[in-house]
Amino acid sequence: MSDNPYVKNKNLQIYLNGELVGLDEAKISVFDHGLLYGDGVFEGIRSYNGRVFELAAHMRRLYDGAKTIRLEIPLSAEQFKESIYQTLKANGLDAKDAYIRAVVTRGVGYLGLHPAKTVNPSVFIITDECELYPPELYETGMELVTVATIRNHPAALSPRVKSLNYLNNILAQIECVDAGCVEGIMLNHEGHVAECTGDNIFILRDGELQTPPTSAGILEGITRSVVIRLAKRRGIPVQEKQLLRYDLYASDECFLTGSAAEIAPIIKIDGRVIGTGKPGKITLELLEDFRAVTRDELQV
Ligand code: PMP
Repeated sequence: MSDNPYVKNKNLQIYLNGELVGLDEAKISVFDHGLLYGDGVFEGIRSYNGRVFELAAHMRRLYDGAKTIRLEIPLSAEQFKESIYQTLKANGLDAKDAYIRAVVTRGVGYLGLHPAKTVNPSVFIITDECELYPPELYETGMELVTVATIRNHPAALSPRVKSLNYLNNILAQIECVDAGCVEGIMLNHEGHVAECTGDNIFILRDGELQTPPTSAGILEGITRSVVIRLAKRRGIPVQEKQLLRYDLYASDECFLTGSAAEIAPIIKIDGRVIGTGKPGKITLELLEDFRAVTRDELQV
């Protein structure tokens, strides 16, 4: 049994390059370019009662990102999906809620940057019980700050690629924690609202839901697209548009979306109270719908 202090389940089985191995056997070389350069792609996925949520969309984003960085995933999307289910089963998570981390690294090479000599990408999958934001945050709402670190310029490293190179978000996350918040808002190179360090952002203004477009330089969140579909189903108009901080401060409601966060209500931004200072009505309705979708009680 492993003595890894960070993982609760010491018998966790990890999928690593086609095999299920114990925690202590799940090792990657110091010459892997995923480690040396953050060269690789990943996904953070949820499963509810053993059913992987929006798996096709996660696979699409993973494979599109890999293609963008010229990384060939050594499995077909079908094989990848099967490997995820196999890993959940091996950990007794096939009838529970879980968090899944799927990672593809460039693989082992030498110290040069160019990946030409790294012929064997590594694939690993970690599945474990899910750690969420504390449940109180969904009742009281969360506070956000705007951070100074701007989101990566999309023409330099597109935030649409969920790459292993997360320093941009990590630097922003450090600022959030320094300010006493668990999340924060990142602006883009033009000063427009982009997204949070690990979540997308929405506001409600005069009955219309608004969220920055992908051209603002954001990760095209899968929860974000589910929420857009849920809002349309309720007849709520949705607009993807450039937002300034002013728009956030003047909004009636605000919330974050992400695989781990689901839909998290925001009640204060940079010291400005949003709406009534309590989680908004539409936010809570969308959260209820979202949870119904995850329980398979509603289809969108
Ligand atoms: N933006 C960033 C930067 C993220 O890391 C995430 C989490 N993967 C999100 C948004 C939300 O995306 P999703 O809904 O697909 O989890």
